[in-house]
Amino acid sequence: MTTNLIILGSGPAGYTAAIYAARANLSPILIEGIQPGGQLTITTDVENYPGFPEGVQGPKLMDDMRRQAEKFGTKIVSADVTSVDFKKRPFVVTTAEGNHEAKAVIIATGASAQWLGLDAERKLMGKGVSGCATCDAFFFKNQEVAVVGGGDTAIEDALFLTKFAKKVTIIHRRDQLRASKILQDRAKANSKIEFAWKKVVSDILDVNAGKVTAVKLKDVENGKISELKCDGVFIAIGHKPNTEIFKGQVGLDEKGYIMTKKTTMDTNVPGVFAAGDVQDSYYKQAITAAGTGCMAAIDAEKYLDSVV
Ligand code: NAP
Repeated sequence: MTTNLIILGSGPAGYTAAIYAARANLSPILIEGIQPGGQLTITTDVENYPGFPEGVQGPKLMDDMRRQAEKFGTKIVSADVTSVDFKKRPFVVTTAEGNHEAKAVIIATGASAQWLGLDAERKLMGKGVSGCATCDAFFFKNQEVAVVGGGDTAIEDALFLTKFAKKVTIIHRRDQLRASKILQDRAKANSKIEFAWKKVVSDILDVNAGKVTAVKLKDVENGKISELKCDGVFIAIGHKPNTEIFKGQVGLDEKGYIMTKKTTMDTNVPGVFAAGDVQDSYYKQAITAAGTGCMAAIDAEKYLDSVV
C-alpha cells in the first residue's frame, strides 16, 4: 500500500514534521531509526527550548513530542532504514522488516557523534573512552577525566562531569572556545575544570592495561608531546550527518549534509524533503530542527496537493 508521507527519523525535526503532517490529515508513517528520540535523549537539561523557563529534560521533551505526534494519528514504526530508492515513483523505503512506499518523504535522520579516529580510542571504548557524558559520568566518581573539544557539547559535558569527577580537563586544539558565552563563563568559574589549550590527543593509554590511564597530548604549535593522567576521556568534537544511505539519491554538500533550497525544505528530488541536523551544518539546535520539521511538513503537504 502506498502511503502519502514517510518521515525518517525521530528527533525534534521528525516529530514536528509528524505533528504537522498528521494534523493536515496526511496519516504519516514515521520510521524512528536506531536512536529513537535522537540526540536529545542523551542530554540532560535543555535550557534553551522556548516554553520551559525552568528547563526540561531532553528525554522528556522527546517523549512528549512523540506522544503529540501519535495523538494526531502518526503511525510510528520501530525500524532502521537500510536503503531508499527515490528514482522510483512511489518512493521506496526499505527496512529489515520490508519495504514501504510513499508519495513523499521527509528525511530527518539527524547527525551522529564524531570520533578522533585513533586505534586506542576504538579499543578502549566503554573502558574509559566515552562519547556520552550523560550516560557515563556516574562511573567516574572522584576520578580525573578529560573532555576533548571546544564547542557547546564539550563544555556542557565538562560541567556535567564536575558533579562526579574530582578534576575535569578540557582539551582544545585552539586557545578560544567555540561554545556559547554563558557556558564558557560557567566552565571558567568552575574550580574543578582546567584547560589544556592548543593541544590535540595523539594517543590514549593504556590499551594493554585495558583501561584509560592517560592521554598523550601534542602541542599544535611546537609538536611537543606531553602526558595527562586521567581515568576517562570524553570525546565531544562534533557530529556528522546521517546520510550514508542517501548517497546517489539526493544532493549532498561536500560535508555530506543534504542540500535544501534556500526558502523551503525541498531537496533536488521533487517530493523528497529534509529537515533538522541532516541538512543543517550551522545552527544545529533542537528548536531550529523543530522549525525546519514544520517547514518540511508544510512543503510536503503542498507538494502532495499538487500531484494528486
Ligand atoms: P561543534 O560546535 O561543531 O564543536 C566541535 C568542537 O570540537 C570544536 O571546538 C572543534 O574545534 C573541535 N573539534 C572538531 N574536530 C576535532 C578534532 N578532530 N580534534 C580536536 N578537536 C576537534 O560541535 P558540538 O559542540 O557537538 O555542538 C554541535 C551543535 O549543537 C552546535 O551548534 C551547538 O551550539 C549545539 N549544542 C547546543 C547546546 C546548548 O545550547 N545547550 C548543547 C550542545 C550542543 P574548533 O573550535 O577548533 O573547530
